[in-house]
Amino acid sequence: MDRILVAEKIAPEGLATLKAVAEVDVRLDLDKAALLDVITGYDALVVRSATKVTAEVIAAGSRLRVIGRAGSGVDNIDVDAATQRGIMVVNAPASNNVAVAELTIGLLISLARQIPQSHSSVEAGKWERSKFMGWEVRGKTLGLIGLGRIGSEVARRARGLEMQVLTYDPVVSFDRATQIGVESVNLEDLLARSDVVSVHVPLVESTRSLFDTNHLAMMKKGAYLINASRGGVVDEEALLAALEAGHLGGAALDVYSSEPPKNSALVNHPRIIKTPHLGASTNEAQAQTGTDVAEGVLAALAGNSPRYAVNAPFVAPEAWHVLEPYIRLGRQMAALCRHLVLEPVRSYEFEYCGELSGVDTQPVRLAILQGLLAETSEQRVTPVNAPLIARERGMRITERTCHEAENYQGLLVIRANTADEQRVFSGTVLRHDPHIIQADNYWVDFVPTGALLFTYHRDRPGMIGRVGMLLGAADVNISGMYVGRQAPRQRAMMVLTLDELPSDTVMEEIRAEPDIDRSYAMVL
Ligand code: NAD
Repeated sequence: MDRILVAEKIAPEGLATLKAVAEVDVRLDLDKAALLDVITGYDALVVRSATKVTAEVIAAGSRLRVIGRAGSGVDNIDVDAATQRGIMVVNAPASNNVAVAELTIGLLISLARQIPQSHSSVEAGKWERSKFMGWEVRGKTLGLIGLGRIGSEVARRARGLEMQVLTYDPVVSFDRATQIGVESVNLEDLLARSDVVSVHVPLVESTRSLFDTNHLAMMKKGAYLINASRGGVVDEEALLAALEAGHLGGAALDVYSSEPPKNSALVNHPRIIKTPHLGASTNEAQAQTGTDVAEGVLAALAGNSPRYAVNAPFVAPEAWHVLEPYIRLGRQMAALCRHLVLEPVRSYEFEYCGELSGVDTQPVRLAILQGLLAETSEQRVTPVNAPLIARERGMRITERTCHEAENYQGLLVIRANTADEQRVFSGTVLRHDPHIIQADNYWVDFVPTGALLFTYHRDRPGMIGRVGMLLGAADVNISGMYVGRQAPRQRAMMVLTLDELPSDTVMEEIRAEPDIDRSYAMVL
């Protein structure tokens, strides 16, 4: 019988699932030394977020086959060390969905009917019926930023309340949105059309302070904002200013940039409704977390595929030599596509040509999915869980192989089909180095290492010099430069490889240059 060590408290439902088939020891008292001492006798370890499952613990666990994390983040587990030892890491990222969605609906109705404010008023001995005139959510437009696990659950419930639901989520497909009765639009449209905007994105680089002065100003006058995702997504000073200026009708917050919140002017504002990070706080969500992690651990022990596996699959050594640079290339091309294609993508096409047509390209496909989805989730996106996340987001993908690879030994192509156009990225491998040879339809040729700067601009004399001067003045060193253009003096793309990323100020100066439409800096 397998032996499982449960080192942190999980719900009784989860424990019962484990105990039904394995010998389970619950030891909540283990410090680092004690854990190192006992781990050697166990096939599985279950933790929450407090236990540090370091490389040392993993090395000491000579029998370990799986580590279960009751929750979503795996920052406390050395996943690479586990992967190297062939130990599967499983988690429970979906157990809170309904709890957070229901709280969001509660906040929505509370905003519409001022329930918390009127409750306080009655409590204070008042009877202010005309002060608390409300509005009905039926027929109103709800804009969801992020249509992932929680956003989708909110959408279903809002449809039940007869709301019109819009979403902005660059990754989720139109089909998936349509399936749940949601219209997929650009961010600007969503902000301009929504009576209420609710945010359900992870806190990553692209979403930090997503609701800044600029985006708040783009919301309809009198509209409402709900944030039950992560505090850093909303700039709290900018929100307070928008409320004080009367631009927003109100806001509801479950999460704050620091918790408990420090911005008392914001939390005490009469048109703010606030809860103390209660999204996941339901008995059912806690029970589901325990059950999900227990099922994952048992599936891994039985040699089956757990639903929520976190770490990487195995690639046969003989295929590794050909595939390895293409795996890197696929991940980098996909990450570039994610950075440059900001419009919702209806479908993707992946094409594997030349030397790639003779090998099992599954690892390259997984790397592409990982690149497309990385930083669109707080969950660590790996080749193991990327297909599941892609399925959850309804991504439509077609694949084909072809023997011909133009003049290259191998060619990898990603096509992203948006509502209006096809955006193409191609790459090859030369002397074992990935080369990106087509970026967003422009022919270029660069090795995607280090910091990269892309500009979309109008081709005319002096453009390269001007960007070079701005970078030079900020002491940013350029190591390579490539330009692709549609035709002389037409639209063009410049790619610069840099020794370091330019600051936000330098990027703003570059974007302010006449004839530069857009510019992005990134490390792939
Ligand atoms: P998810 O990964 O399933 O979905 C996130 C979605 O956001 C994805 O579809 C992704 O494509 C989209 N996205 C990423 N970047 C975007 C951007 N820049 N613009 C628009 N869309 C973008 O995550 P989830 O499980 O639905 O969780 C959503 C949020 O809720 C997370 O921030 C999570 O931490 C938070 N959360 C809060 C509580 C709480 O107690 N309030 C509990 C659980 C989760």
